Amino acid sequence: MAHSTILYLFSQFLVHFLPMGGKMEASTPSKLALNRPLIRVEDSLIKHVYLSFDDGPVLGTKNSIVVCSNHNASATFFEVGLHQSRSNAGKKLYKNILEKDSLFVLCNHSFSHAYGKYKAFYHAPRAALRDFMLAQKLLQPKNNILRLPGNNAWNIKETERASGLVRPLVRLLDSAGFNIIGWDMEWRFNKKGRPVQSPEAIVALVDSLFKLNQTVTKNHLVILMHDHMFKTSVDSIQLDKMIALLQRNPNYHFEKLTQYPGLKHSMN
Ligand SMILES: [Zn+2]
Repeated sequence: MAHSTILYLFSQFLVHFLPMGGKMEASTPSKLALNRPLIRVEDSLIKHVYLSFDDGPVLGTKNSIVVCSNHNASATFFEVGLHQSRSNAGKKLYKNILEKDSLFVLCNHSFSHAYGKYKAFYHAPRAALRDFMLAQKLLQPKNNILRLPGNNAWNIKETERASGLVRPLVRLLDSAGFNIIGWDMEWRFNKKGRPVQSPEAIVALVDSLFKLNQTVTKNHLVILMHDHMFKTSVDSIQLDKMIALLQRNPNYHFEKLTQYPGLKHSMN
C-alpha cells in the first residue's frame, strides 16, 4: 500500500473514530501536535482533478466519451454551438454527453469560437456576449459555466483573472450571472492536432503542480484538452493511459466542473 494511502486511512480513522470529531486530549506535546492539523491533513491529501475537453462536438469527441466512460472518470465538455448545430453527428455526440449526466457535464464555449479571430471578438464585448447567449440557448447546458475561446480567463466568486483584452467581456458575462473557468495546465497538440506531451509527462506535471501549490484553487486542478486530439485510436490510447496513470494515485479524485469550489449560483 502506498505511503500516502496509509496516511489518508490513518487521518480518516482519526476523524471518524475519535470522540469529538477527531479532537484529542492535548495532555502531551506529541498529542497536541497530532491534534491541531487533523482536518487540514485530510483536506490536503485529496486532490481534485477536472478533465476538460474543448471545441466539440467534433471528430475525437466520441473517443473522449468512450475512454472517460471506460474509466468511470468524470469530465467536462466545453462545446461550441456552431459545431453542435452543423451536423447530425454533432447533435448525436452532444446528446451522448447530456445523457451521461452522472459522469459528464456540458458547458458553453461560445457559439462561433470567435471564428478564430480572437482580437476582433474581444474588442466587441457586447457582440461577444450575444454570441455566448446564443450558444446558451442552443446548447441548454443546465449550468452557468463557460470558457472563453482562445483565452485562459477566470471569474468565479472570489477569483478574477482576466487580461485587459478580455476584461470588458468578462465583466459583462459576470453581470449576466456566468462563471468563467479557464485551466491550470494544458495537454498541448501539434500542427496535426495530435498530443505533444506523453501521458507520463502530463501526470508528472499534475503531480508537480499539486505539490508546488501552483493551481488557481489549492488542491483543485483543471486540465485542458481538445476533443480532436483523440480522434485516432492510437491517440485515444494516450488518453486512456494518462487517465489510468492518474487513477493509480488513490488521492486523485476526478470531478465535473460543476463541483468546482466557489462558483456563483446558477442563473436558473
Ligand atoms: Zn476552444
